[in-house]
Amino acid sequence: MSAVQIDGLHKSFGTLEVLKGIDATVESGEVVCVIGPSGSGKSTLLRCVNLLEQPNSGKIVVNGVEITDRDCDIDAARRRVGMVFQQFNLFQHLTVLDNLTIAQRKVLKRDKAEAQRVAIENLEKVGVADKAKSYPAQLSGGQQQRVAIARALSMGPEVMLFDEPTSALDPELVGEVLGVMRRLADEGMTMLVVTHEMQFAREVADKVLFMDGGVVVEQGPPSQVIAAPQQERTKTFLARVL
Ligand code: ADP
Ligand code: MG
Repeated sequence: MSAVQIDGLHKSFGTLEVLKGIDATVESGEVVCVIGPSGSGKSTLLRCVNLLEQPNSGKIVVNGVEITDRDCDIDAARRRVGMVFQQFNLFQHLTVLDNLTIAQRKVLKRDKAEAQRVAIENLEKVGVADKAKSYPAQLSGGQQQRVAIARALSMGPEVMLFDEPTSALDPELVGEVLGVMRRLADEGMTMLVVTHEMQFAREVADKVLFMDGGVVVEQGPPSQVIAAPQQERTKTFLARVL
């Protein structure tokens, strides 16, 4: 059974068809990187997997449960899939610790001590436990993004989605976030990552999907898709970003 199975996924905004039938799978413990030009539908794909967008048609199955089923509990499904955004999306008026405990308490009904224990454990994992009492604005972008990763991990997700997690960071801060993601991958976390970091994709991804115009143009191991692309559109894109 795959961790994530996407079949014939279509998504339109009004008359604009953004996803034109996406088929993709992420096996348990795999890292799949999604690359492609701006506007190709990468974020929309991730947002559908987290049910932030409702697909028009097609199916998404997470560890055997069809989350696109009409009768599926959306909140329960979302809990199983963690997401990290380009812009961190931390609550600015809450401390780092409270950012990590609020959903655990409200959604998972954990008591305060347990939520804090899990929070600290995950802050330690991403190397920012010393910032637990700080507010997001007091942290660097790299620290904020690591907090956002720890927050997602605190919900115990089965799959982690990353949408260009390093694109908003100053160049010198990119490495610390990619380092955390590498460690997660090494620990066996199942990850679907939209990224422009080709070196990360090359070294960490089990599989790379190249998207353009709402379709998956080419997919396979990085040694194929990045190092030896077959499709003209993939070659053109890589020539621009590499
Ligand atoms: P990418 O992440 O690859 O840059 P997106 O998935 O963000 O691409 O966007 C794909 C297309 O869908 C773009 O043309 C974008 O303008 C459009 N789009 C995305 N979200 C919405 C929305 N909520 N309403 C209308 N159009 C949208
Ligand atoms: Mg995007």
